[in-house]
Amino acid sequence: MSTIKDNLSTLKNRIETAANACHRSPSSIKLLAVSKKHSLSDIQTAYQLGLRDFGENQVQEALPKIQAFSPSDIQWHFIGPIQSNKTAKIAQHFHWVHSLCRADIIQRLNNQRPDDLSPINVCIQLNLTSEATKSGASLAELVELTHLTLSCPKLRLRGLMCIPKTSQHFDEQRQAFHQLAEALKTIKPLSKAIDTLSMGMSGDLEAAITEGATIVRVGSAIFGQRTTL
Ligand SMILES: *Cc1c(COP(=O)(O)O)cnc(C)c1O
Repeated sequence: MSTIKDNLSTLKNRIETAANACHRSPSSIKLLAVSKKHSLSDIQTAYQLGLRDFGENQVQEALPKIQAFSPSDIQWHFIGPIQSNKTAKIAQHFHWVHSLCRADIIQRLNNQRPDDLSPINVCIQLNLTSEATKSGASLAELVELTHLTLSCPKLRLRGLMCIPKTSQHFDEQRQAFHQLAEALKTIKPLSKAIDTLSMGMSGDLEAAITEGATIVRVGSAIFGQRTTL
């Protein structure tokens, strides 16, 4: 408990300092706690400390956690690559998906979202540096995927997500995030609900906040090093 508590207070200071430095309100930045490879009891500790948004990147790891712990004010975010045989579970159990990048997945999620649940919040993931090992759509595909998503009644397009190449240099980190922010400007006029830049992790959240991140996805800076569960 005390480690997570201390980590969280250090992290909140980082977020606040970065926000203040660029004249943004820290409350305009949502902290998404990435709990992959961390135990249910760590999640419950973070919840007790006030966190309400949790991110997982594997359906089979996430489901037991979600089934064991779903207070009504928690929001589960899917942030990993999506295989088509996993879309039904994602549509049933998550509040957000950050990693949409294929038309067939978009359609499956829309078809499989249960009628009694509100539309699922989604972001399109862009692979801005065209790294072959990373998922994400190209900038050239963005407009088409945006229109497709907006045509889906059970999806609510909220914005864009990226995982840039790791860099130790602030200016280099900013570049990729700046590109994502520019891409968001091009689709924003298409829907009033578009308000989200999901970018920044433990190592680069200051750069992301400087470029306008509205959700930072933070794992190790809250929970410590990931173990195998
Ligand atoms: C694991 C992961 C994170 C968190 O990474 P940390 O460096 O531990 O903060 C953020 N986003 C995605 C998509 C991830 O898979």
